[in-house]
Amino acid sequence: MASDQSSQRAPTKLAAERSKWVERIIKSAKQTYKLCPYYDKKTLSCFIKMMKSERKPKCDREGKFDTCPVFAEFIGEQYDKLVETSQVLPQDFRDLQIVF
Ligand code: SF4
Repeated sequence: MASDQSSQRAPTKLAAERSKWVERIIKSAKQTYKLCPYYDKKTLSCFIKMMKSERKPKCDREGKFDTCPVFAEFIGEQYDKLVETSQVLPQDFRDLQIVF
């Protein structure tokens, strides 16, 4: 019975750890960048959207990334890849080696 309860809690705990890490990385990115590091000022486009081959790769936030769901989702995907490959999770955006 106890193991059933812990296995039910595990995904929640993992999700909480994931979102905490994503928040930390976004916060550290904000300390380094005024505008989104994936924002192309010339074309007003989003490199993440371009990389994902979205039909409309324009950034609709003028590069303000602190509450951008595209940015948060992308950082979350990086978390998943790092955890899947048992790599150390960096604590700063600058130490994050982006995997596309
Ligand atoms: S859509 Fe979000 S992730 Fe993409 S450039 Fe704009 S702020 Fe950055």
